Amino acid sequence: MKNLWNDAEAAHYQTDLALRAYSSRLLGCDKSLVLHGGGNTSVKIREPNLFGEEEDILYVKGSGWDLETIEEAGFSPVRMNHLLRLAGLEVLSDPQMVNELMAHMTKSSAPAPSIETILHACLPFKYVDHTHADAVVTVTNTPGGEVRIREIYGDTVVVIPYVMPGFDLARVCVGEFAKQAGADTIGMVLMNHGIFSFGATAREAYERMIMLVSHAEDYLKQKNVWQIPCLPEEVSRKSLRLELAVLRKEVSTAAGFPVILTTYMDDASLAFSRRDDVVVISQQGPATPDHIIRTKRIPMLGRDVQAYTQAYQQYFEQHALHAREKKTMLDAAPRVILDPELGLCTVGRNAKDAVIVAEIYQHTMEIIQRATALGGFLALSTDELFAVEYWDLEQAKLKKGGKPPLFSGQIALVTGAASGIGKACTEALLARGAAVVGLDLDPAIASLFKRGDYLGLCCDVSDENAMVDALEVCVKTYGGLDMLILNAGIFPASQPIKSLATDEWRKVMNINLDANLALLRECHPLLRLAPEGGSVVVIGSKNVPAPGPGAAAYSASKAALNQLARVAALEWGADNIRINILHPNAVFDTSIWTEDVRQSRAAQYGLSVEQYKKNNVLKTEVTSRDVAELAAEMCGPLFAKTTAAQVPVDGGNERVI
Ligand code: ZN
Repeated sequence: MKNLWNDAEAAHYQTDLALRAYSSRLLGCDKSLVLHGGGNTSVKIREPNLFGEEEDILYVKGSGWDLETIEEAGFSPVRMNHLLRLAGLEVLSDPQMVNELMAHMTKSSAPAPSIETILHACLPFKYVDHTHADAVVTVTNTPGGEVRIREIYGDTVVVIPYVMPGFDLARVCVGEFAKQAGADTIGMVLMNHGIFSFGATAREAYERMIMLVSHAEDYLKQKNVWQIPCLPEEVSRKSLRLELAVLRKEVSTAAGFPVILTTYMDDASLAFSRRDDVVVISQQGPATPDHIIRTKRIPMLGRDVQAYTQAYQQYFEQHALHAREKKTMLDAAPRVILDPELGLCTVGRNAKDAVIVAEIYQHTMEIIQRATALGGFLALSTDELFAVEYWDLEQAKLKKGGKPPLFSGQIALVTGAASGIGKACTEALLARGAAVVGLDLDPAIASLFKRGDYLGLCCDVSDENAMVDALEVCVKTYGGLDMLILNAGIFPASQPIKSLATDEWRKVMNINLDANLALLRECHPLLRLAPEGGSVVVIGSKNVPAPGPGAAAYSASKAALNQLARVAALEWGADNIRINILHPNAVFDTSIWTEDVRQSRAAQYGLSVEQYKKNNVLKTEVTSRDVAELAAEMCGPLFAKTTAAQVPVDGGNERVI
């Protein structure tokens, strides 16, 4: 475990709170300590209030902030005096506690304080750090875990039996702390949950955390369980995209909304999912309660979604009977799937969520395997897990997400996506919550957007093998295909038929027509598995209804593509796939409109380039964005009952009208 404290860097932070934020970020950037919003930290500061009186304030991590990126504004200031009085109560319900914490902050705009606020307040140290360190939960989640923890730490830590986070945990900690703490106490281990460290300074608390967790790591190394067996097994080379799209459709159906399903076929994931004992070790529960909402109680083994959801429903019904309040079931779909051929698949409402689930489960696989080697992985009972999974505070967090965006959980493929209309379509789809795979010959496609819901692949769509490989990558990354935007195309220089070479004609046909036939054919089996129906938008051209002289190859290729799309609409309607066509005209911010093309086209009509740009009924300029916004909407509910429509985006063209 690396100590990341840096004196030169720390010197930039003068106040107690600034240092609190700094050392919290050090904890947050080590994924073996905390993952995605997990863990929390605090500092107690005495400061004058409005009346000039000195007051003790607890600055504790606010909800919605991640330790990795937290700043001073991410800490909620709560009056210590009130917190200590609350700690003395016999009972305090969750809603009461949340209300009391919010009502006793000194800054009304601060985020909601952590649910561990009262616990932080009760620990008699200025700085308190809390993580769910992998090495510590590896040891606590074994039979005899408590004995091992005492063996590792002696009297330097207080040991707390598992209690669900919240007010009751704070009370138990206060009691145990009074009983167990001594002069050497520098931390506290919470069985099946994580670890706290304390200090008079930010540095002391941080370095104690590093030291304590390092002791647990050293223990695991001494016991010879650190190294995880990772058999270099055969990775399946066969095409998996259809199987994955089927799996994603079934998971989406179980969830009740379209999901992203990401597949990890790395050595570690395959080795874990192929272990002989995977049926036992993967079905105990998560490593720390913090993970349960993201990962669900247990992963699905294999691909039988129905069996999994039935078992989940049973688990819910059994435990909901015992629950004090009436609970509503979350969706019964799995979030983690282990399969000997696929390795690890993770499920999320969007690409970011699926990645978070993967990161959590990659750590979980290590924890489970080390704990198994140490003597057996022992998670919480299903009663305890249910209590956390269906905890009102956790459910409230889920609800706070609000209405998901239009294309949440859906996947789009855009060809010719590096510039012009294709790039604008990518932006329009991303803005509506879709995950987008962009294809283009231009290598710039790879780094066009740096975000988890975008994947840019350098690909010649007229090369069928390359196109099929790209589809395979698309489905392994996101799970399937819901929307296809056929945009890639070329617009050759003006050429009268009398001098149009056959090779030139064929080149245009190959890219503008043949490549799209192959794409449609290969995408069809995926589109028909789209949970909410598939949709295709073809970027056609004004040249279809109103061809221009000198553009024979282009006009013929787009007209043939138009006819192909209409036939597809007839053939695919029964598969709930819609295919609609846009006919843009004179969109000048695209790569096919080079200065040459622009001038020669304008000349064809005897106009200047400026006149040519707005040469339409509405006297308006048509941009890539105008086309893209309409293309994106055509994929959505506005066009749910429309297929084979041809819509002009041209400002009104007299020849078309
Ligand atoms: Zn915790």
